[in-house]
Order: sequence, then C-alpha cells, then structure tokens
Amino acid sequence: GDIADGVTRGVEGIAASVSESFLEPVVRLGVTGLSRAGKTVFITSLVANLMDRGRMPQLRAAASGAITAAHLRPQPDNTVPRFDYETHLAALTGTAPHWPDSTRAVSELRLSLKVRPGGLGRLLGSVTGPRTVHVDIVDYPGEWLLDLALLDKGYADWSRETLERMQMRPGGAGFLSALGGVDPAAKLDEPVAQGLAGAFTAYLQAAREAGFSDCTPGRFLLPGELAGSPVLTFAPLPEPAAATPRGSLWREMERRFGAYKAEVVKPFFREHFSRIDRQVVLVDALGAIHAGPRAVEDLRRAMTEILGAFRPGRNAWLSQLLLGRRVEKILFAATKADHLHHTQHPRLTAIMQALMRDARRRADFAGAETAAMAIAALRATVEETRTRGGESYDCVRGTLLDTGREAALYPGELPEDPGILLEAARDGAEAWLDAEYEVMRFAPARLTLRPGEGPPHIRLDKAAEFLLGDRLR
Ligand code: GDP
Repeated sequence: GDIADGVTRGVEGIAASVSESFLEPVVRLGVTGLSRAGKTVFITSLVANLMDRGRMPQLRAAASGAITAAHLRPQPDNTVPRFDYETHLAALTGTAPHWPDSTRAVSELRLSLKVRPGGLGRLLGSVTGPRTVHVDIVDYPGEWLLDLALLDKGYADWSRETLERMQMRPGGAGFLSALGGVDPAAKLDEPVAQGLAGAFTAYLQAAREAGFSDCTPGRFLLPGELAGSPVLTFAPLPEPAAATPRGSLWREMERRFGAYKAEVVKPFFREHFSRIDRQVVLVDALGAIHAGPRAVEDLRRAMTEILGAFRPGRNAWLSQLLLGRRVEKILFAATKADHLHHTQHPRLTAIMQALMRDARRRADFAGAETAAMAIAALRATVEETRTRGGESYDCVRGTLLDTGREAALYPGELPEDPGILLEAARDGAEAWLDAEYEVMRFAPARLTLRPGEGPPHIRLDKAAEFLLGDRLR
C-alpha cells in the first residue's frame, strides 16, 4: 500500500509540475526605458488592450479569438509594489483625461490570459482544455540598467570620468564650484558630504532635463526610500596626489560608492533583472532629436550601455549570476509616434534601427531575437493634411498640454537617411544644420470607447505579437 501510495504521489507530483509549466506557463516581461520614455503609459494601455481585445488585430492570438479571457491576478512577488494599473487607467480614460504619474521604482503586475490551444496544441487541448498563460509585467527605470557599468569601476576611475563629462554638460558648473574649497584628504565632515551629494544630484537633474540620457548613478534621480541614506550621499572627487588617511572625505566617499554597488545595484540585478524572459526598451527618440545632436549622441551611448546588460559576458559578475540564462526577445520601441504623421513612421523606425545598430548586433550575437518599431501606447492625436502657400503639410492635431487649446502641428521632416542625423550627433554638432524639429506635448484625448475596445494606440498590437505572440499559440 505504502509503495503504491508513494508511486501515486510521485506521479501526482510530476503531473503538478507539468501542469504548472505546461498548462500555466509564466512569461516575465520586463518594461524599461529612461525616465519619461513612456513605461507607465505603455503598460497601462497594453494591459487595457489585452483585457478588451477589440483593437489588437496584429496580435494573432487576439485576432483569432484564441485568447478567450484575460484577468488581473495576484502577482507572485509579495514584496514588490504592484503596478497601479487601475489608477493609471482612470487617469487616461476618465472624463478629464490626464497623463498618469511616471515610473519611480520597480513594480509588477500579473495579467493571466486564458488561451484556447490551436494547431498541435489543439490535440492536447482536447485533453487539457484551455490553458492559462501568466504574463508578469515588471516595470523598472532604465537608469538602473545603466548602473551596471559602475560595477566595473573603482571610485577613482568613476570620479575622473564623471568630472570630465560634467564639463560638457549644463548644471556641471554648479557642482564644480561646490567642489572648489573641498579637500578630499580632510577629515570627513558630514554636512560637507551632504552638500556635495546635493549639488551632484542637482547637476544630474539639470543634465536630465536638458535631454541627456546617461545620468547615473540611477538612484540619485529616483531615490525612493533610499533618499538621504549614506548610499546616496556621495559624489565624485578629484583624486588626491597622495594616499588619503582613514576617516578622510575621500575614503568615506569611496566606501559609499562601493556600498551603492553592493547594496543597491547588485540586488536589483539579482532579484529582478535576472528573471526576465522578454524585454521591451522604450525610447523617447523624438524627444532627444528635439533636444539636439548632443542629446541624440548621448542617447545612442546610453542605449548601447543599456543593451550591454543583455549581452552575456559584458560583465563577469552578471554572467556568473545569469549562468547562461538569457532574455529571449528584446524590442526597441520609439514611443510617442502619434507626434508624427504616419508617413514619417518608417523614418522614425529607421532612426531607431540605426541608433541601436551597435548594441543590437551584440544582443543578436547573444542569441536574443530583436526588433525595432515606432509605436504610440496611447494615441493623443489625429492626422490632418494642410496646405499653405501651395505646399501641403502632413500634420497631427491634438489638445496642447500647456494651453489646453487644440492645434494642428507640423513637427518637421525627419531625414530619410538616419545616418545623416546620427553622424551630425557623433561629430559633436551643436545644433541641427538644416532642420528644426518641433516637439509638443499633447494631452490625452477624451475617449469614448465602445464595449470591448481598449484605448487607441499605434502598433501596440504588433509590439505585443513580437513580445508574447509565440507563447499564446
Ligand atoms: P515613464 O517615466 O517611462 O513611466 O513615462 P510615462 O509613461 O509616465 O510617460 C511620460 C510622458 O510621455 C507622459 O506623461 C506623456 O506626456 C508622454 N507619453 C507617453 N506615452 C505617450 C504616447 O503614447 N503618446 C503621447 N502623445 N505621449 C505619450
């Protein structure tokens, strides 16, 4: 009896783990991008459109009716904040629509899709019935990926590079003058350390606002509950000529820089990054183009850094952590494509592809499937062609965020050859030579959604097909 019981239990055990992995597979979808790239809006609209599948023709499992139901379910990670889907959706779709609060830290949401098997699965499906695919969406700031590069650096190298870069950027002068009377070899004085960290943070914020992408260490801009703690109370210092005594400002800053790496950067990679299966990297390319050539060059470098995180072997510590595990698919998506008439979307996609070329080659080499697209998670405009002085202009019309007025705007023509734009950026041009790119912020439009219809978007369904389609067949 005992033996037979043991066997039955064993078989049940196997059956349970089979059903867990086969009948209820889990896809962990990472959503990242630099601050204001559009992560919050992307997740909110993606989930809303997967719940109401009336506007997802390019997601095959939605178009064919294979997805029979979609529900939000409790997420598996109990200590990670839940992505505040309901509040964000209410902001976007209410009677006075407004943009939701942006991502400030990691958060998670589980969307469970009931899928009727097709093809080969249908044979099995006659036995098993529909299966449930859990999509665990993990939202996190792209700045946190940039921090990976810090792991390879000691405090002295990091300080030197950061101070060098600062000379080229707005806001740097303030920090450099704060450094003026400071002796790194002097005994640590906490108010001095705090003053420097404050000035350093102000510089990072100014650089970010001016459109620069790499504003690491990432937590200085989005500190969350770490605000005011020693791991965020450091700054770069000029290296003293001689060895510094124990208890000096230099030594303590060096120690805190180390603590930031060990106690902030590494845990994020261990607990979140290492478990991602599919990744979308959102990029506000139009915003960078508007900010000018330097911002575009900086964006290109930041993207290369960010995507370096997906290249095994880039960092010894990370390779050890991942043990051969890798992200299977990476989508680079230029967001806010509703700022452009659709005739210019292929050019935006081409810019994305060019921006990502270096990084992408490396990620491809690592075996991940990659794609670049231009999308709008929430379409806030309609298209309109206007004629002026005998010329016709392809415009977009929407409600301006600043004034609340309706306006049709012509954002300027993106170059047909993305190389022109990127070369000017790489050559350190101050401004674009023969073009002005206007950027405007539109308010979300008031929506009247029919039953079963998610919020309007551009190619969100195509993005979903690339990221999830194969797991829903
Ligand atoms: P996050 O910091 O990456 O979470 O960025 P958000 O999702 O909060 O988006 C930042 C801002 O970009 C929003 O407040 C909007 O102004 C704008 N935005 C994001 N997605 C779209 C979009 O699809 N269309 C338009 N027109 N604007 C968008």
